[in-house]
Amino acid sequence: MSRLDSFIRRLEAQRACLNYALTLVRDVPGPIFELGLGNGRTFDHLREHSAGREIFVFERKVAAHPESTPGPKFLFEGPIEESIPAAVTRFQRTVALIHADLGSGRPEIDQKTSAFLAKQVPGLLRPGGIILSDQPLEISGAEVLALPEGVAPGRYSFFRMIG
Ligand code: SAM
Repeated sequence: MSRLDSFIRRLEAQRACLNYALTLVRDVPGPIFELGLGNGRTFDHLREHSAGREIFVFERKVAAHPESTPGPKFLFEGPIEESIPAAVTRFQRTVALIHADLGSGRPEIDQKTSAFLAKQVPGLLRPGGIILSDQPLEISGAEVLALPEGVAPGRYSFFRMIG
C-alpha cells in the first residue's frame, strides 16, 4: 500500500469513528472534549456534526487556523497533565464524549500520556459516555466497543462508561 493510500485510510477510519461516536451519544447529554487540536480538522468535524453541543478543546500549544480554533471559554491551552485534573474537578462525570487524538509518533511519550489519560477518564465521562482514542487505553469501569465496519483492529480504542 502506498503512503498516500495509507494516509487516506487513516483519515477515513478517523471520520468513521467520529461519526459512529456521535451517533452513540445522540441521547447522552453533556459536552464533548477534544484532546489535541492540531490543525483543527477533527474539531471542525465534531463542531459541524454535533448540533451545537459545547466542545471543550485541550491543546498544549494552539497553532490551528483561527476558524478552526475554539473561543477562549472553550479552550484549555497547556499540557493535559495540568488541564485535565482541573477539568475533572469542574465537569465531574458530565462529559458525553471524549475524542483523544494525542499521538506524537513517539511510543515512549504516547504510552505515558495514555496511562495518565486512562486514569482521568472515569472522573470525566458520565455513564453511557464514550471515549475514542488514537492510542491504546485501558479504562476501569468501561466496556470495550467494537470498531465501526471497515476500520482495522487496533487503529482506534473505543470505550463506553458503564456506571
Ligand atoms: N485532531 C487534530 C486534527 O484533526 O487536526 C490532530 C491532533 S495532532 C495528531 C496531536 C495534537 O495533540 C498536537 O497538536 C499536540 O500538540 C497535542 N498534544 C499531544 N500531547 C499533548 C499533551 N500532553 N497535552 C496537550 N496537548 C497535547
